[in-house]
Amino acid sequence: MILNNALLLLLLVLAITAGWTLARAGLRFGGPEQAQLPSQYYRGFNFLLDGEEEDAVDAFTEALAVNEDTLDTHIALGSVLRKRGEVDRAIRIHQSLLARPQLTEVQLHQSHLELARDFIAAGLYDRAEKLLLDLISQSSDLRQTARRHLLEVHEAQRDWQSAVSIAEALIDVSKDEESAAGNLGQAAHQLRSHYLCEQAEAALDSGDANGARLLFEDALRDNAEELRALMGLVRLALSEQDTQQALGQFERIIDSGRASAPDLLSLLAEICAEQSDPTLQLNSLRRYYARQPCSLLARALAQQIEIHEGKAQAQAFLRSTLEDHPSASIAASLLLGETTATSPCPERPILEAFADTDAGYRCDHCGFSGKSRHWRCPGCRHWDSIHYLGAFLEHPNG
Ligand SMILES: [Zn+2]
Repeated sequence: MILNNALLLLLLVLAITAGWTLARAGLRFGGPEQAQLPSQYYRGFNFLLDGEEEDAVDAFTEALAVNEDTLDTHIALGSVLRKRGEVDRAIRIHQSLLARPQLTEVQLHQSHLELARDFIAAGLYDRAEKLLLDLISQSSDLRQTARRHLLEVHEAQRDWQSAVSIAEALIDVSKDEESAAGNLGQAAHQLRSHYLCEQAEAALDSGDANGARLLFEDALRDNAEELRALMGLVRLALSEQDTQQALGQFERIIDSGRASAPDLLSLLAEICAEQSDPTLQLNSLRRYYARQPCSLLARALAQQIEIHEGKAQAQAFLRSTLEDHPSASIAASLLLGETTATSPCPERPILEAFADTDAGYRCDHCGFSGKSRHWRCPGCRHWDSIHYLGAFLEHPNG
């Protein structure tokens, strides 16, 4: 609906601008080309009145000469069409701009950028890449914007090596320069780290442990607490049966303070299963919970307490957590612990639902939710913006 309104608004702007242009120049000077303009203009109005928006767009666009005053209108129209999914029409408009000889160099670059955006939206990545590389070499004003779009192209093609090179170039650009370009996206060093992790995970899957190690360590270059790279190093150590090393890397994750999640607890359980110390998991979880007193870790720790010290101790621990961190899911877990699975208990399914209220993952950028971790959000394509709900502290006032 918003885009439909935007298109209608643009059509009105087009109509007004075309009328103004005709009044100022076209009709006054005449000429074979300009003599046709009035008919296109009135045809556009007829289409608009008949509700035929697409034909109206074409008629007004033809009537509206491309010059310094009207270029932004053409570009805005193409942009709205692209966002409506009408990529072919957007491409046509932006290509027609490039055919005009009177464009200045800056306007030419602007039109190139819009066309590259159209090509990305259409999945024509090779063509977009060529335009963006030209812009990077020719336009100092649009260089950073073009690099950001080039990252989109490489991400879509899963060309992680090329993406790393572009991210390196963006890291070298000062914050002021990026700010001036008006396109501060995710931090380039964070993107670089994920591109390296993509390559490292592929290397690990194909059995190239040394290659994976180098890539994971490189991914930690700018941030020694990068969760994905640390998790990768834990998995790498486990694949080499080096559980001491795996434990050491996991300690780094605990110290980093990053939100916990079920996949992290599975990794810890895997490490502990290989160790001779039967209390390792219990003690590691105590340390983890002290660092991050959330409901997920409280329940995991309570399970270990029950194994080693009995159910009464586990329940007492859970109850003690409520004093500082009131949690509906922990309270429900406690009540569930007092029921038995075999006895008739109609409140059980309700309590189970409450105990699961903080299960699942959610993107803190777009709100996408799911049952597993994605390093890149399927909704908004942000990297590492999805977190486990039970990993957050709950407060009495919500
Ligand atoms: Zn998202």
